[in-house]
Amino acid sequence: MILPMYCDLHTHSTASDGADPPEVLPRLAKEAGLSALALTDHDTTEGLQGCAKACGKHGIAFVPGIEVSADTHAVLPKRDPSLPQLGTLHILGLFVRHDDPKLADIHGRMKHARDTRNPAIVEKLRELGLRIEYREVQALAKEQGTHIIGRPHIATVLIEKGYVKSVQDAFRKYIGQGAPAYVRRDRLDPVEAIDAIHHAGGLAILAHAVQARCVDDDELEHFIASLKRMGLDGIETRHSDHPPEVVTKLTALAERLNLLTSGGSDYHGSRKAVALGSQRVPMSVYERLRERTG
Ligand SMILES: [Zn+2]
Ligand SMILES: [Zn+2]
Repeated sequence: MILPMYCDLHTHSTASDGADPPEVLPRLAKEAGLSALALTDHDTTEGLQGCAKACGKHGIAFVPGIEVSADTHAVLPKRDPSLPQLGTLHILGLFVRHDDPKLADIHGRMKHARDTRNPAIVEKLRELGLRIEYREVQALAKEQGTHIIGRPHIATVLIEKGYVKSVQDAFRKYIGQGAPAYVRRDRLDPVEAIDAIHHAGGLAILAHAVQARCVDDDELEHFIASLKRMGLDGIETRHSDHPPEVVTKLTALAERLNLLTSGGSDYHGSRKAVALGSQRVPMSVYERLRERTG
């Protein structure tokens, strides 16, 4: 009997906002029965070398990756402004070179955007009369062992201080879009994101398409087709946020638009209730992508 073989092509480590170090993920992948693993940390390739080495030790095929955040609205600039706002646009780069200068440049720019945005949010909160200091947010992130400070950390400090009851409450009252302490983040143009991934020798794959929050199927198709014109190579069909009917829909869309497909859990360790390898992505998906990179 031949055992089915699976891969997970979307995971995070402590190099961004995951809970497991990049050197530990391959052992967990082995325990989850995976044959191939991609590490796709947000805007950084920092963990790739350590993860590659550990994958070698455990006999797991490694896919060096990255997940780049880009400006969703730049995909559909002529969209009716009265429609509900689009969500997030994340583009996975699979099979990228870890030391590509264009990816390093993106890392620097995104880090700068974050480094200036979070203190600006805290400053606005202080102007609103809340007693919060940026070093408290930094201390919390450090305690959680992540390299990236984000709004959830600010929200947690607000909960600890009794200003809000939950993270959602913090976003709604203070730090979410449209709230009084909201600060817009400098977003990367999707064309730049795709070009940088290609420059690094990788394939550009649209992650979790549902998170873009297109209003209907027509808009979703238009959204993906526009990204394809910008150079997109494929879409993630299987993802923890995609129910079976969405997987079916995206698979059909990929076929119609002549795009590759990928899949992964978006594992973040104990930080999210998603198990490594849970999407049961067949190894044939990995093989097809690898063939395409030459
Ligand atoms: Zn994402
Ligand atoms: Zn992700």
